[in-house]
Amino acid sequence: MNHPSALPSAASLMPIAARPDVLFVRGQGAWLFDAAGRRYLDWMQGWAVNCLGHSPQVIVDAVAQQAATLLNPGPAFHNLPAMRLAEKLTAHSGFDHVFFASSGAEANEGAIKLARKWGQLHKGGAHEIVTFVDGFHGRTLATMSASGKPGWDTLFAPQVAGFPKARLNDIATVDRLIGPKTVAVMLEPIQGEAGVIPASGDFLRQLRQLCDERQLLLIVDEVQTGVGRTGHLFAHSAHGIQPDIMTLGKGLGGGLPISALLATRAASCFAPGDQGGTYCGNPLVCAAGLAVLDTLLADGFLAASRQRGEQLAAALRALSSELGLGAVRGEGFLLALELGTDLGPAIATRARDLGLLVNAPRPHCLRLMPALNTSAAEITEGIALLRRAIADVQEAQA
Ligand SMILES: *Cc1c(COP(=O)(O)O)cnc(C)c1O
Repeated sequence: MNHPSALPSAASLMPIAARPDVLFVRGQGAWLFDAAGRRYLDWMQGWAVNCLGHSPQVIVDAVAQQAATLLNPGPAFHNLPAMRLAEKLTAHSGFDHVFFASSGAEANEGAIKLARKWGQLHKGGAHEIVTFVDGFHGRTLATMSASGKPGWDTLFAPQVAGFPKARLNDIATVDRLIGPKTVAVMLEPIQGEAGVIPASGDFLRQLRQLCDERQLLLIVDEVQTGVGRTGHLFAHSAHGIQPDIMTLGKGLGGGLPISALLATRAASCFAPGDQGGTYCGNPLVCAAGLAVLDTLLADGFLAASRQRGEQLAAALRALSSELGLGAVRGEGFLLALELGTDLGPAIATRARDLGLLVNAPRPHCLRLMPALNTSAAEITEGIALLRRAIADVQEAQA
């Protein structure tokens, strides 16, 4: 059964991504194991999803217990894990209400709908949401339109209207786009897919002030930056601002599909029937979310993770000066190494051959998203593999 010749073919899957010829069959903590038994240190972790690493015991236990207790009463009824998770999220944030969904895009769709509803109720039908060049908010039609990814304005045209684009860290470009139809500003505190480009604290505070002055909602997409990824429970908290709406995804389920839309009482204006979904607040995924939050909120967890993140950033800076590369960006365990050349994909491929998984979100940089509980020894091991991968590719180019 487990013999490689018995492996199925991928020919029946839609070819939506160029996937390498490696098949992972098992994961444990920071490590993935392929069908041939090789191990890989995973610094992608399902695109910043597996915040506690692969198959962590707390999630395995929580999901097994919930699966045996109650899988799905359906969205027409309350369930204990959803109520507990919503209480925990509101208790540890400045938001009052939560709507659960399954993906980041779905949570962002909800945020867009909530802002448009709020505009109908409080701003004479204002519905435009200022978003940002190079931003990323998901792959539904509206969230693709809100994204500023090059090429996405024509792929699947026509776009959903109402998402004018400003430039990150340039408040004048936001101000210029605000008119009577504007209802909100939406951004990632750190643009992840763009290559880990942080919004500055000053810019976030200027945005908060601008939104207050012009009666606009401030929406933060923390699908990638939230749930401990930056060393804080939420990235915006480190900058002392309170947004009106926040979305979470990725790390929230630690590998299971759950996302969340959070709003302050003043912004939370859905009436019964306005929003929903078959899997919203499903108890199985909410049980996973509870296991994740309980772990992150335990004494010392985030502080330790922040320290490890600083260790990785320092090691990357040392590597950069040794090998003549560029800047290190990001916070916590959402880091990017600027390469100064377009060797990112080649380095990622070489690193994988050596047993390290890293991602090149843009050809000129590498993104590193290890599990939040990665050990100091694993960081040392990963940096050694990364040094070799970069040096090998540089040598092949020379
Ligand atoms: C990944 C991501 C999304 C989309 O989440 P999906 O679960 O893939 O729909 C949205 N916003 C940001 C910032 C993301 O990083």
